[in-house]
This record gives sequence, C-alpha cells and structure tokens, in this order.
Amino acid sequence: MIAIQKELFLERLETLLTTDSPSGFTMNIMNVIEEWTRSIGYDFYQTPKGTGIITIEGQSDEKTVGLSAHVDTLGAMVRSITGTGNLKFTLIGGPIVPTLDGEYCRVYTRDGKVYTGTFLSVAPSVHVHKDASTMARNADTMEIRLDEVVKSKADTLALGISPGDIICIDPKTTLINDFVKSRFLDDKASVACLFGVMQYLSDNYIKPLYRTQVIISAFEEVGHGASYLPPEISEMLAVDMGCIGEDLTCTEFDVSICAKDSSGPYDYDMTSRLIQMAKDNQLDYAVDIYPMYGSDVSAALRAGNNIKGALIGPGVHASHGMERTHYEALENTMELIYLYLTRS
Ligand SMILES: [Zn+2]
Repeated sequence: MIAIQKELFLERLETLLTTDSPSGFTMNIMNVIEEWTRSIGYDFYQTPKGTGIITIEGQSDEKTVGLSAHVDTLGAMVRSITGTGNLKFTLIGGPIVPTLDGEYCRVYTRDGKVYTGTFLSVAPSVHVHKDASTMARNADTMEIRLDEVVKSKADTLALGISPGDIICIDPKTTLINDFVKSRFLDDKASVACLFGVMQYLSDNYIKPLYRTQVIISAFEEVGHGASYLPPEISEMLAVDMGCIGEDLTCTEFDVSICAKDSSGPYDYDMTSRLIQMAKDNQLDYAVDIYPMYGSDVSAALRAGNNIKGALIGPGVHASHGMERTHYEALENTMELIYLYLTRS
C-alpha cells in the first residue's frame, strides 16, 4: 500500500465535507481546491463553466489520461416564501427527501448573507397534526423554518431572502472509529482520494506514466458534470462512490469497480485492467453493476467526447441519505488510482 499521510488526508476530507457546495454554488470550494493543488505543486485552472482542471506531467506525452471526481453536492434552492415567512424549496439533484425532515440548513442570499433554518414537513407537530408521522415527505409537503423572527412573507423578504437563493443541507460530518459519517461522501470522499494520491506522487517525486489531467467537476449531480473535457484526454477514470445493498457485493471497506451502470457497460479493456490490478495487489475490491447510476464518464460520453472510460470508487452506504464509509475503502481506492496511473 502507498503511504498516505492519514492525518492530512482526513483533515482535507473534513474540510471538503463541511464546505457547502451544491451544484451551481461551487465557487468557494474551488478556491480551496486551487490552493491545495498549488501547495502540492501542480497547475490548476478553471473552465468558464467552473470545472477545476489539474495537470500532472507524465513520464510520456504519448497520451493524456483523465481522472475525475465531482465536488458538487445535492442541495436546494428557494422557490417561494409562504404567508408565514417559511421557505418553499426546489431540489438540486436527487436527495432522499424524507431524510431531510428535521435537518438543519444554511440559506445563502445573493448579497452574501447567510441564515440558518430547519427542513420540516408542514405537519411538524405530533400534538397538533394527526398526520405528523404519516404525511409523505416531499418538496410539496415540506418547508424551511428560519431561525429569524419572521411572521410574514414581508418579514422574510426584508431579510434579503428571495427565490433563487441557495440552500445548503448540514452534512453532519462525524469521524469515528475510522468511519466517516456525513452527507455528500458522494463524491467528496473521492475528491479527497485524488488529493491523497496527488500528495503522495508529489512528495515522492513520482511521475505518472502518462500526462494526467484531474477533472474536478461541478455539475455532476445535475447530469452534465464532465460533459466538457480537454480534447487531448483519450481515456478517463471516473472516481465516484460505490453502491452498497441488495445483491451488490461492495461493502464500506472495498473499492468498487463498476462494470455497467444506467449508461451501459464501461470500457472492457480498462475495466479488465483495473480488476486485474486489484486482484494482483490483494486489494479489497468488488465488481458490481449499478442499476440507477451515471458518472462523469457517462456525461462525457453522452456529450460526444471520444474517450475510453471506467469507474471506480469507495463503497458508500445509504447514498444520497445519511451516508457512511470506512477509511479502508478510501485506502483501497487510493491504491487502485495509484496503480492505474503508474502501471501499464
Ligand atoms: Zn456521485
């Protein structure tokens, strides 16, 4: 196994998880990523759309390979303000909405103010509402109670809150017993893994076999994350969470290799190579099919990029809800990324 600086890795993971970054609101987190990249000693630039692109010189310029992970997350946006001053919301991406009931959030106004609040159903009190326990939880039956003295729509408007403001869900990040419990491990766990590998390469003066571009995408949760790729990339490994449950074999301790998802089979040769490398190096890994899933490779292929693509990632339990993974899954993922970059 490569020697990852575990403390630095976990510190970066925690910073990523606790920095709000729903799709469309990734400006702050991209600044953090730029700063880390420069401290490691690699080049960074942002495309007009806001994708971060890191370039690592390789031993050979014969081809350019891509690695990707998405730093955007699920979230919500203010849709309207009710007569009592609560916020109706529209979702960004696809969270399991009932899990939002009772969750804390932050509302960012466009002039830079931040307010806190709580997602609740419109039947929030068991002493008042007969259907408090049974009401379906969805965007129509839920609203946000602000921690401000608001009694009317005018009061909320006076705070400077209006439709279109970004709502960020509290990730509740907790590190315990080498488990990481948090929302948005999908896909910040993978972004942290990419930084773990880049730090290792840089510290040990190791160049990947080929020139490598690391794509930190910012719109994956809404479907078009890596739809633009620098044209020199001819193959790309997406690093995104592995699915757990039903008949899938992945656990919170494994790196998952996805053979096929909703967008179809991944590149046969790349996927076979990854499986062989995982096997030869005694990694804890699983090969699985994701029935309801698309990745940055799917977005890139759909947009017409002429690449080979594969998908790996740490096993994440309860995805798009209260997620959890274990440090071992992250270690196995970093090892497989490292092998991909340095072995033919
Ligand atoms: Zn994801």
